[in-house]
Amino acid sequence: MPESCIFCRIAAGEATAAKITEDEQTIAFLDANPLSPGHTLVIPRTHATRLEDMDPETGRAILDQLRVLAPAIEDAVDADATTVGFNNGRAAGQEVPHVHGHIIPRSRGDGGGPIHAVLPRQSPPEEEPEDIAASIATRL
Ligand code: 5GP
Ligand code: ZN
Repeated sequence: MPESCIFCRIAAGEATAAKITEDEQTIAFLDANPLSPGHTLVIPRTHATRLEDMDPETGRAILDQLRVLAPAIEDAVDADATTVGFNNGRAAGQEVPHVHGHIIPRSRGDGGGPIHAVLPRQSPPEEEPEDIAASIATRL
């Protein structure tokens, strides 16, 4: 565990957090600077910087927690919906280099946008979509 990682320290019980639930592989707690009440983070216990650094079983456990928590959070804070996502890497806005899924409660008229608002609308890429898809597929 990197000594300087705040989420490793929360996982180890060395730093405090408003914990919601935990299991063998994951812990869920409230974000210290919530975008809305109930804003929750789900992290793997074992340090991993990006999604691809997690072992497959831990990745499945994270998704399972997100799946179960989203409706419970909506219910608890009387939200209409949740935005669920990961900043995966610094260039995407990841500030804490320990994987964490955000669950952000949303309500009609809250002034926020959809995930599509992370970038301004682009003109269509010059490459053919089939070529981009094939290029990705060869890397799996
Ligand atoms: P990122 O931009 O890396 O996806 O988001 C990091 C999130 O972690 C932010 O929303 C920030 O408020 C939250 N955060 C950072 N440090 C702490 C902490 O020590 N405790 C808790 N509970 N949340 C934190
Ligand atoms: Zn860590």
